[in-house]
Amino acid sequence: MRLILLGPPGAGKGTQAGKIAKKYNIPHISTGDIFRANIVNNTELGILAKKYIDNGELVPDGLVMDIVRDRIIQDDTKNGFLLDGFPRTLEQAMALDEMLINSNMKLDAVVKIKVNLDLLVTRITGRRICKECGATYHVDFNKPKKSDVCDLCNGELYQRSDDNEDVVRNRINVYIEQTTPLVEYYTNRDVLKIIDGEQSIDDVFNQIVKEVE
Ligand code: ADP
Ligand code: AMP
Repeated sequence: MRLILLGPPGAGKGTQAGKIAKKYNIPHISTGDIFRANIVNNTELGILAKKYIDNGELVPDGLVMDIVRDRIIQDDTKNGFLLDGFPRTLEQAMALDEMLINSNMKLDAVVKIKVNLDLLVTRITGRRICKECGATYHVDFNKPKKSDVCDLCNGELYQRSDDNEDVVRNRINVYIEQTTPLVEYYTNRDVLKIIDGEQSIDDVFNQIVKEVE
């Protein structure tokens, strides 16, 4: 199964990606996670990407394409993969199409998670993430059993530095300007599935499974 999760920041892509990856035994490939790991490790890529991420801007397409090109041909993608946060521009979508054709691969579905824009700021500013395993929580909508501690691995929860209100508003504008054209792009390729992302986490998941199977 080869899937793309599309939707604005805070739509619930990462939350659903964890569940989908487990159900279908495919790797969850998040370009944002790859950049954050590079920032923590102070790599050249991390240093380059950080200034864009901190301002809520997109990292230039060339840098993004290099990491995706390397990642989708790793051994663990034999059953497929789930892309989260990529592609985010028409250029990225076209480059992905070319990569898939060259590797004889086909996309099964592009799942767009739809959430009203006014809910996104509340979702993102309340998001907390486990430092150890990356599990995602929300201070009101998806609370951990013990405050600031991961239910799954007891890791410490943290708030992403770009999850503050000013940067979030810019990220939402960038999504509207640069990523929404992908809805038409994938509609024209007959692979787009639209899911109501304002249901409970489990209901969103069940609807995604129904649509992709
Ligand atoms: P994205 O990866 O699209 O940016 P996340 O999956 O990280 O979004 O979700 C953003 C925030 O919203 C997180 O704090 C998450 O716990 C919360 N969240 C995700 N899905 C739902 C949902 N269906 N209902 C309520 N809160 C949700
Ligand atoms: P995310 O974790 O998906 O919310 O991404 C966090 C940040 O990483 C974004 O605001 C961008 O700065 C950068 N980023 C992640 N994926 C991409 C991408 N496909 N293209 C450009 N920038 C990206």
